[in-house]
Amino acid sequence: MRKPAILFACLLFSCSLAATQDVDFSKVQMKVTKVAGNVYMLEAADAGNIGALVGDDGIVVIDDQYAPLAEKIQAALKSITYQPVRFIINTHYHDDHTGSNAYFQKQAPVIAHDNVRKRLESGGVAGNGSSVRFDAKPQPKEALPIITFDHDVTIHLNGEDIHALYFPAGHTDGDAIIFFPKSNVVHMGDDFGTYGFPFIDIDAGGNINGMISALETVIAQLPPDVKVIPGHGHISSVDDMRVFLEMLKETRAVVQNALNQGQTLEQMKQAKILDPWKKYSGDFISDEAYLETLYNSLTGQKNGKFIKHN
Ligand SMILES: [Zn+2]
Repeated sequence: MRKPAILFACLLFSCSLAATQDVDFSKVQMKVTKVAGNVYMLEAADAGNIGALVGDDGIVVIDDQYAPLAEKIQAALKSITYQPVRFIINTHYHDDHTGSNAYFQKQAPVIAHDNVRKRLESGGVAGNGSSVRFDAKPQPKEALPIITFDHDVTIHLNGEDIHALYFPAGHTDGDAIIFFPKSNVVHMGDDFGTYGFPFIDIDAGGNINGMISALETVIAQLPPDVKVIPGHGHISSVDDMRVFLEMLKETRAVVQNALNQGQTLEQMKQAKILDPWKKYSGDFISDEAYLETLYNSLTGQKNGKFIKHN
């Protein structure tokens, strides 16, 4: 799943028409995997992973990838069950997780945290506060979640209590993690991924501290044999999340230490202070981009300016 930076960046967010034309969505394959209990995962290239709880009461869908993939998602769901879609939950506002909202909202309501609706409606900038930066276009009314929550919501269907719980200021300022206690599955949204250093949307209120505390809170609550659907990447275990969390904490500590010594961002880049974690450096989030993310998170800076959180 290594791709040229421009392509992956483009796949993650609304990108220019010219760049979109580089991606031939007609060739994208939708892979369906049974995770555990009544929960399935739908994967397509670098799009966000979809979770689907199925049963006699209908389908609850977690995230819906890109708009051009909507019919493929629908066909994949039909390959599992003929029951209708009952609800869609968005884990956050990025368009590789919300792109088919307008398509599916003709069938069932979309549910998300208040800030997801706000950001989809207003559009704005997504980025790490420095070199990673994308435009997030305002979305039409049909794509906006019609049910929103400020802390958590539970859906009782198919004998399952699907719990969407808000975690502030992690990957974005509107992250929900979705628990399926009976099936013993959790969908982490983009607070956990297996593609290397994480993207943290500082421009949309994200912060390394929130991502770490979300992971600590969730890991402490999960049964040891739970199956984990990451926002991107392969089905994982709690131990995989622990390894990821340790990397986040160690790298945060190294940058905090450098800050305490009065080092500038440039000096940290020169000193390659994240070199011991080089294996996490990817085409999308390089070690330098992640260093900027940590620096901006810990200093409250964004392009040298103080971040005003809403
Ligand atoms: Zn995301």
